[in-house]
Amino acid sequence: MTPDEFRKHAHELVEWMAGYMENVENLPVKSQVRPGEIFEKIPGEPPSEAESFDSLMRDFDDIIMPGITHWQNPNFFAYFPANNSPASVLAEMLTATLGAQCMIWETSPAAAELEEKMMIWLRDLIGLPSGFEGVIQDSASTATLTAILTAREKATDFSGNIEGIRESGILRVYCSGQTHSSVEKGVKIAGIGRNNLIKVAVKDDFSMDHEKLKDAILADKKNGYIPCCVVATLGSTGTTAVDNLKAIGSICQENNIWLHVDAAMAGTALILPEFQWMLEGKEYIDSFVFNPHKWMFTNFDCTAYFIKDAGTLIKTFEILPEYLKTRTRGRVNDYRDWGVPLGRRFRALKLWSVIRTYGVEGLREKIRNHISYAAHLSEMIQKESDFEILAPVVIPVVCFRFKPAGYSEEAINNINEKLNHQLNDTGKIYLSHTVLNGKYTLRMVTAQTNVTLDHVMKAWLLIKETAREITL
Ligand SMILES: *Cc1c(COP(=O)(O)O)cnc(C)c1O
Repeated sequence: MTPDEFRKHAHELVEWMAGYMENVENLPVKSQVRPGEIFEKIPGEPPSEAESFDSLMRDFDDIIMPGITHWQNPNFFAYFPANNSPASVLAEMLTATLGAQCMIWETSPAAAELEEKMMIWLRDLIGLPSGFEGVIQDSASTATLTAILTAREKATDFSGNIEGIRESGILRVYCSGQTHSSVEKGVKIAGIGRNNLIKVAVKDDFSMDHEKLKDAILADKKNGYIPCCVVATLGSTGTTAVDNLKAIGSICQENNIWLHVDAAMAGTALILPEFQWMLEGKEYIDSFVFNPHKWMFTNFDCTAYFIKDAGTLIKTFEILPEYLKTRTRGRVNDYRDWGVPLGRRFRALKLWSVIRTYGVEGLREKIRNHISYAAHLSEMIQKESDFEILAPVVIPVVCFRFKPAGYSEEAINNINEKLNHQLNDTGKIYLSHTVLNGKYTLRMVTAQTNVTLDHVMKAWLLIKETAREITL
């Protein structure tokens, strides 16, 4: 394809993209295809002769689009959002066009230095202490793995990397029963072993019971285990519970344990002064992760990972083969030493674009709106005697269920599961679920970039009507 042909197709594509943004609201939120349907439509072999880009686009519309779940549809209320925004998409076009591989400073100084500055902007915006340094990772899962590996090395005096961790005794990691599954994955990959991940019980509000954490740590120490890392969550995935950093942090400090904080979704709320209470105890934090690719209008992937002592991180990940030796080493940030992959995309650009085009106040306004929609929804749910709220509403996530009178708990679970599927099959809205204390729980997240109160009200009406018509 010549630059001139590219220009023509790119202009057509931009039309397609803007049209999609205008129309996405009218597309079925959850893809309605059956397993294998798309696979069967794609030829078994690649074409031997060149095809036109136009024919590719025709197939994209006919074959691919029906198999897309529209996360950018404002009626997407499932999981946590993976929001984008026009500013973010535009910057991604530049990133793709430059095609720079930003593994070290020398392979694109601007990428390294913009990343360094963006992490300072974000650190200050969310209120982390000024000593923290940041790096962009591909996902919160990777960042949490990075934290666990760094904690492992610190606990073993960096012998794990050299001798393997068998020599140093059995390490233990702690989190709550509501913690994201990425912690378990990280513990497995780090060679610590799933049986050495202790899931501490939660309190009524689903936050970690720090007294039980303390008991578990003391018992482990007595039995010769080495407590290595505690993962606290701000905004757990199921219910958005907020762990008490101050209480947990002081236990970590007394016992010389790494404190990693997973704020994947709720971290965005920290740019609001009225949510700074979640960070009380921040002086105890060793590492912290949040995902601008969830609720900060920056398309996947963009995870912000912050660390109090970047030296420990670098010492854990550093490698220096001959072909990566440079004259600038030690004077600049070579981010390949700040995480697992060597190769890195230029992701700071889209953050720069989003933060500048919204402005801090613009971001705050959007986030406050999302939170107010959830509060409103929660009030409406509480007004109906045959519905109930199942967890405190902190950020824009409402956990609830339909609870018609005269049914057993088991029947109510079945009714809510059926309700969830029936709603999603309409293509009009998309909700996901969790299970809380044995109760099948619907989760409604009012945080899509373009969601309005009107979308939330219409969705609630549909939920109420559908629920009351359900028969088992
Ligand atoms: C979404 C989520 C994760 C995982 O995020 P990825 O970036 O997809 O790895 C981890 N922790 C919490 C609390 C989350 O909500």
